[in-house]
Amino acid sequence: MKKIVIAIDGYSSCGKSTLAKQLAKELGYVYIDTGAMYRAVAYYADSCGYFDSNSLAVTELIKDLPKILISFRYNSSLEKSETILNGQNIEQHIRSIKISNYVSKIAQIKEVRLKLIELQRAMGKEKGIVMDGRDIGSVVFPDAELKLFMTASPEIRAQRRYDELVAKGEKVTFEEVFSNIILRDNDDTTRSENPLIKASDAVVIDNSELTQVEQFEITLKMALSKINEK
Ligand code: C5P
Repeated sequence: MKKIVIAIDGYSSCGKSTLAKQLAKELGYVYIDTGAMYRAVAYYADSCGYFDSNSLAVTELIKDLPKILISFRYNSSLEKSETILNGQNIEQHIRSIKISNYVSKIAQIKEVRLKLIELQRAMGKEKGIVMDGRDIGSVVFPDAELKLFMTASPEIRAQRRYDELVAKGEKVTFEEVFSNIILRDNDDTTRSENPLIKASDAVVIDNSELTQVEQFEITLKMALSKINEK
C-alpha cells in the first residue's frame, strides 16, 4: 500500500499530538512530535543556564548546536515515544510550564530551526509518518499528501492543557496556562522564521466542538482517501 506523509500543524494545545498518535497507530505509521525537539533544545539551554530573567544567550546556544543530539526511544510499557537528549531521557522534564514559557524563544532562532528541520526531513524520508508542529505542512514537508491545520478557542485549549498538567501533579493555575498559550500563539504567529501559518492546501480542523473520536474518524477518512488515491 502507498505510504504518505501526514503533516499536522496548528496552535498550542489543540490536541495535535493526540490526533497524530491515533492516526499513526491506526495506519502503522511513525509519529514524530517536533514540539518535543524544540522543547529539548529549551531544556538544554536551561540546563546550561542560558536563560537569565527572560533573556537568552543565543550566541552560546548556537555554538553548542553540534553537541545537541536529539532522538526518540519507544517505551513499550507506556506505548509511547520518549525524547532523548544526548543519551538522557528528558521526557518528564520538557512539558513543564517553565519549559513551555522558554520554548517559543528557542523556536525563533534560525540556526535551531535549520538543524531541527534537517533532522525532521531525514526522519520522514521513507514516508509512512505523521508529524505534528507549526511548520510541517508549510516548510518541512511542503509536498505532504495530507495537511491538517488544527485550531480551537484559547479558553478550550487552556482548559484541556490545565487538566492534563494537574492530572500529572504539576502545581499550576488556569491563568498561568492560559497566559502561556496566548504568549506562544503570539510568538509562533509573529516570528520571522517560519511562523505558524496555514498552508494553502491544508484542511482546517476546528475541534472546539468536536470529540476526539469525531476528529479521528473525520481525519482517518481523509488519510485513507489519500493513501488509496492513484
Ligand atoms: O507542540 P508543542 O506545543 O510541544 O511545541 C512547543 C513549541 O515549539 C511551540 O510553542 C513552538 O514555539 C515550537 N515549535 C515550532 N515548530 C514546530 C514545533 C514546535 O516552532 N514545528
